Amino acid sequence: MIESPLVIAVVDDDPAIRRLLEAIARGSGDVVVEAATFAEGQIVLREYPWDVAVIDRSLPDGDGLELCREVAAGLHDSDSHRHIVFLSASAGSEEKLRGFEAGADEYIAKPADPTELRARLRAIRRTVLTQKAMLARLATLEQLSVIDGLTHVYNRHFFDSELRRLFDLAKRHERPLALAMIDLDLFKSVNDTCGHRVGDAVLNEVSTAIAQSIRSSDVLARYGGEEFVLVLPETTLAEAAVLAERVRAGVEGVRIEGTFGEVRITISIGVAAMAFPDTETPAGLVEAADKALYLAKEQGRNCVRLHGMPVAAKTAPTAP
Ligand code: GH3
Ligand code: MG
Ligand code: MG
Repeated sequence: MIESPLVIAVVDDDPAIRRLLEAIARGSGDVVVEAATFAEGQIVLREYPWDVAVIDRSLPDGDGLELCREVAAGLHDSDSHRHIVFLSASAGSEEKLRGFEAGADEYIAKPADPTELRARLRAIRRTVLTQKAMLARLATLEQLSVIDGLTHVYNRHFFDSELRRLFDLAKRHERPLALAMIDLDLFKSVNDTCGHRVGDAVLNEVSTAIAQSIRSSDVLARYGGEEFVLVLPETTLAEAAVLAERVRAGVEGVRIEGTFGEVRITISIGVAAMAFPDTETPAGLVEAADKALYLAKEQGRNCVRLHGMPVAAKTAPTAP
């Protein structure tokens, strides 16, 4: 496990306690941020990326219990490693119970024996570090689960859910949305003549070339074997046609080192947009782009074809 410094927030009006906790934290290589009042505590716990908050109960301008409640209520799943510790002279069973109910993970009575305090904070530190490492691993796995292993663009699974989300958004706000279906031309012959390894390299280079021609808000995904799909928010059919042509030309310029010299590849693109009678669902939009792609293949490949004609002059769909 990688040992990174933790940020320890100390909210206590007693300077001696703040110094003691600072010394303990420094011993573990951690960083301390301090607050001496309830109001300062609110700012520190809101503004700093703290991992452990050590809060006193009796602050000059309020009860730390209230601060703990506020902080605990604002925590998200991604904060689940964060630990809240009370360090207080109000440490009867009733008070401790109230502290845990307010969201604390630990309650230490004052005056605290420095050796025991250090040992307890070390134990908390271990737990926090383990949980942080688990969260990081989870984030990596989540990232991997939406990425295509070969080309590193989004996978089909992510495309399906993202298209639904962007489609609903566009419909609700009456904004344009376009979709481009991209298929490599005569790709089978690349595999047949150069082998699968070169074929894979071609797929990779093509996805990189496509990615270079689009905006960060556009979603590029591998739809299937040698097919890619682009979801283009805030884009009309006409605008999507211009972008698709740029993508097509970009791929046409790609050169890949093959077994028997340079390999070139072209793509065919079918483009469709919302606001047509048959593109009123995500599936309809995909199907429409697919039909346009079929047309592009039929009409010679290495070209862009558009689906249908607008029902009206406007490009945004009408409200549901
Ligand atoms: P068209 O222009 O009509 O699309 O012709 P095509 O040869 O591209 O189409 P076809 O559907 O006949 O062949 C697609 C090929 O894509 C066949 C398949 O082996 C290859 N393919 C699909 N996925 C991969 C992959 O991950 N790696 C490699 N190397 N090839 C793949
Ligand atoms: Mg193909
Ligand atoms: Mg295909």
